[in-house]
Order: sequence, then C-alpha cells, then structure tokens
Amino acid sequence: TTALVWLRNDLRIADNPALAAAVAESESVTALYIHETDPSLRAPGGAARWWLHHSLEDLGHRLAEKGIPLVVEHGAAADTLDEVLRDTGARSVHWNRRYAPSEREIDATIKTRLGHRQVKVHSHPGNVLVEPWLIATKEGHPYSVFTPFWSTLKTKDIAALLKAPSGGGSARPSGLFDRYTQPRWAKKFAQHWAIGEAAAIDRLHDFLDESLDDYPTGRDFPARDVTSRLSPHLRFGEISARQVWQAAKARSHAHPGLANAVEKFLSELAWRDFSYHQLYHREDIAKVPMQPKYGRMAWRNSARDLQAWQRGQTGIPIVDAGMRELWETGYMHNRVRMLVASLLSKNMLLDWREGEAWFWDCLVDSDVANNSASWQWVAGTGLDASPYFRIFNPVTQGGRFDADGSYVRRWVPELAALPNKHLHDPAAAPPEVLAQAGITLGLDYPTPIVDLKASRERALAAQSNLS
Ligand code: FAD
Repeated sequence: TTALVWLRNDLRIADNPALAAAVAESESVTALYIHETDPSLRAPGGAARWWLHHSLEDLGHRLAEKGIPLVVEHGAAADTLDEVLRDTGARSVHWNRRYAPSEREIDATIKTRLGHRQVKVHSHPGNVLVEPWLIATKEGHPYSVFTPFWSTLKTKDIAALLKAPSGGGSARPSGLFDRYTQPRWAKKFAQHWAIGEAAAIDRLHDFLDESLDDYPTGRDFPARDVTSRLSPHLRFGEISARQVWQAAKARSHAHPGLANAVEKFLSELAWRDFSYHQLYHREDIAKVPMQPKYGRMAWRNSARDLQAWQRGQTGIPIVDAGMRELWETGYMHNRVRMLVASLLSKNMLLDWREGEAWFWDCLVDSDVANNSASWQWVAGTGLDASPYFRIFNPVTQGGRFDADGSYVRRWVPELAALPNKHLHDPAAAPPEVLAQAGITLGLDYPTPIVDLKASRERALAAQSNLS
C-alpha cells in the first residue's frame, strides 16, 4: 500500500525524517503539500508565496525523479487529506512536526480522526534542532531568556543526519503549483535568489568556505555579504537546521581555528530554535506584547508616517536603504532590520505590529516564529527583549556599520554624491555641501520624519508612563 508524506515547512528530500520513514515503510510513496485555508493559520505573505511557488516546483521535479509524485492541493487540511487518502488508498501518513499551538491543534485533530479510521499517523522531529519541550529550565518552565536557553541547547545531542532516500522512477508532478497566486511585485526577486534544496546546500557550503571566518565581526556590516542568507531556505525547510549545525560543527573539527566563528554562527542559528520555543508556548506572540504592560502603550496612529517608512522615505538614509532593500529583494540585513524596527516602534512610536505585518508580507524568509519574536525583541515588548531605553541612533549606527556608505549609496542612489561624512545625516550637512551634491532636501530626498533626539525623549516618556 501507499504511504503518504504530508510536507509543510520541510520542502527537502535529504534529512527529512517523515519522508525517510515513509520510504522505509512502503515502496509506493506519495508526497502532499496543502495550501491550507484553515482560518486559525496565518496566511503566508506575498513574498513567501512567491518563494513557495518556486520551491514546490523544484521539489516536485526532484521527487518525481525518485518515483514519488508530489500532489499540491488547496483547502482545509483535514478534508484535503481525506480526499488524497481516498485517491491513493494510503493507510499511513507521515509528517514532520510544526509548533504553533494552532498548527498543533489541527495536527492533533487529524491524528485522532484518522486513527478512528485505522489510518496510522506518524509525526517526526524535523524542523528545529531540539524539540521545544525537550528544553526547560531547572524548574521545568520554558526559557524566557536566550543565554541560558543557548547554554542548555549546546549540551543536547543534535540528531545525526538522514540520507536522501535512494530509488529511481519517473512519477509526474501534478502541475498544480500555479493555483496559489504569487503577487506580481515579487517577480523581481528572481534575480537575487536561487530557490530549492540544491541551492540551499550550495549556499551553505559557499558560506562555510568563503565567509565563516569573517562572520563574528563582518555579520554586522550590511554592505559586506558575510552572513549565510540561509533564512528563506530554512523558513521553507529546503535545508534543515540540523544539516546547518552538523556541517558547521564538522568545519570546526577539521579547522579548530574556526571554532569561535562556528560558535557565533550556531548561536545565531539557535535564536531560531528560541523563537520556536517561545511560539510553542505562546501562540499569540504575533499579536500580543509578551510583557503585558505594553498592552497599555499609547502608540501613535499615522497612516502617512507608516507609508513613508514602508516606502523607504523617512529621510533617515540607513533606514530608507533597508526598506528599499526589502522591497527590491525580499530580504534585509539583520543589523538594518533592527534599525528600521527601532525607528518605527520607538522614535516614530508606531505599533510594532504594523511593522511586523509589513515584514510578514515582504520578506521571503517571513517566519511565524522568528518575525514575531524579533519584532518583540526590538520593540522591547518581548520576554528577553532589548530594553526599551536602548533606542538605536540610526545616524550613529550608519556611521559605524556603513562607514564608507556603500550600503546607503546602493539603495538610496539620490544621495550617492554626498561625502561620507554627511551621508548618514544629510539634514545636518551644510547647505553648500548639499548644493554641491545636487540635493535639495524635501525635493530630491525627504527631510527626516522625526527629530531623533526629541522622538527619543518622547518614546522614553511613553514608556515610563506604563510602569
Ligand atoms: P545568518 O546570520 O547567517 O544566520 C543563520 C540563520 O540563523 C538564519 O538564516 C536564521 O534562520 C537564524 N537566525 C539568525 N539570526 C536570527 C535571529 N536574530 N532570530 C532568529 N533567527 C535567527 N529571521 C527570519 O528567519 N524570519 C523573519 O521573519 C525574521 N524577521 C525579523 C524581523 C526583525 C525586526 C529582526 C530584527 C530580525 C528578524 N529575523 C528574521 C532574524 C534575522 O534578521 C534573520 O534571520 C537574518 O537576517 C537572516 O539572514 P541570514 O540567513 O544571512 O542570517
């Protein structure tokens, strides 16, 4: 009989426990992806849909070469599974676990329902380094602070990798990939990314070969391309966190001089597990501030200011550069994500959920755990958050992390002729410098949307009203 593997955030063949188990159990395996319409799930954003479309297309062909058809359906998960089980005659279903409470509820209901009909359901650990419930404080509570979480995670055995199932064949993918509309504006991303499992593995090895040793210092400089850019691949599970972990560990064994760089890189990877750890325990992380007092925060309401931020027209160059990088590529460098999020939630005093929602729609790596947890971290509303009074100064940060201005010049070309000294703060440049660069503020480039000093005081006052 046929075994069914229901793929969700694990669009890969290698190190895929659910797929490996299905292949071990039965000679005939069908893979299923469902564009789920269950109302309790957050629909993927536009950029993510674009990625997903191409990732499914790639996976469909690769699975077909192994004789495994990929069926792509659209609907409520339970009903769709019923139909596919009927069509294939499968008597067992395998999946890798997902962790949001609403997702777990859907999965648990399906498991019970299918159990009543003698269909065996097997769930596997495939999406994080360590299952969220296997890490707890001494008192048995979830961690709310990253550092002790990381110290504990490091002591755990990270499972060995599973090989891609062998076997050849020539199944035909169903060709239903196009049913899920991808927005037109996302098509321009194609020039920036190679999508799919093979591309993810290439990316990992390029990063380990070329950038790893520079990672601890270079990772903060947005113009230096030294981070791994694995985030969208990890988001869709084209590569597993375990594959990344084991490959990096192997480097530090082979080259002990790289041990510190590997440690730094893996601690960043562990933030992903930490986000999932939080999501597992708190479904509402995207909606509700994890520190309840922020529920009383008097956020400003300004559609005009929000739009200026979204369009990269705040008049603060490094912020505008980041927002335009996001719009053009579906990605933004981590340091700049922190700066734009801090400007929105602190200086502009707009609700962080507005920023989170924009990122959700525009990021190719928009991730139900990482996006919410990171926004709460920057806004100061999260459990292990950057303290509210730590308000980034984007002008100082620009001077520090983009000293030669190459990041700003790339994304905000209208400022390119300004000398480095004034590039990050054109409003403070002497009129003759602006004139020489051919820039009229307010015309060629906006004047700053907020006064950084006054808005900082305003944010601190709003915060102190809460306690
Ligand atoms: P690398 O530095 O090479 O790190 C490797 C991997 O580790 C990443 O791919 C990612 O999976 C994980 N990782 C690294 N840093 C973090 C972090 N701070 N938190 C969680 N995981 C991390 N990351 C997402 O994957 N999806 C999101 O939707 C997302 N939204 C964010 C929103 C804000 C406001 C901020 C400040 C950060 C957000 N991040 C998000 C985290 C981080 O910015 C990205 O993971 C990182 O920039 C991706 O680039 P990279 O793959 O080159 O990272």
